[in-house]
Amino acid sequence: MIRYALRCGAGHEFEGWFRSSAAFDDEAAALTCPICGDGRIEKAIMAPSVMQRGAAPAEAEAEKPAASPPAAGGGAPLGEFAAPAAPPAAPTPRQVELARALVAMRRLRAHVEAHFENVGKRFAEEARKIHHEEAEARDIFGQATLDEAKELLEEGIEVLPLPDLPKLDS
Ligand SMILES: [Zn+2]
Repeated sequence: MIRYALRCGAGHEFEGWFRSSAAFDDEAAALTCPICGDGRIEKAIMAPSVMQRGAAPAEAEAEKPAASPPAAGGGAPLGEFAAPAAPPAAPTPRQVELARALVAMRRLRAHVEAHFENVGKRFAEEARKIHHEEAEARDIFGQATLDEAKELLEEGIEVLPLPDLPKLDS
């Protein structure tokens, strides 16, 4: 069966079902408008077929599940989760915090290297001597093992781990 959208001479639109397009041609002369009885019936622009009408929404809905959740869940918390997906233009608070810490550690190391006496591997020995006033009181830095550092701390001698960072070229 073929469905045709039909229109009479007065502009009324209605549908007609025919076995074939040839059948329409045969019957067209005998057709009359169901509204006004006009006999000048012609094919109007074909109405979209059921297949096409069904396909278009199906495609539109198929795309929705992927696109909808981020938009649908558009509360404030989800907005924050969405941000990392796109490369952030500005550094995140965490990145800023780390950068500041790095700068602070570099400054600390630079300060120590500039103003503290480098005693190298004698660090634990010298720190102990200074603590017991067996050597001149002064700021020192050098290398110590983790065990040595622990022992010094247990003896009440303040030592700080010096961050090992690549120097800035400035
Ligand atoms: Zn009519």
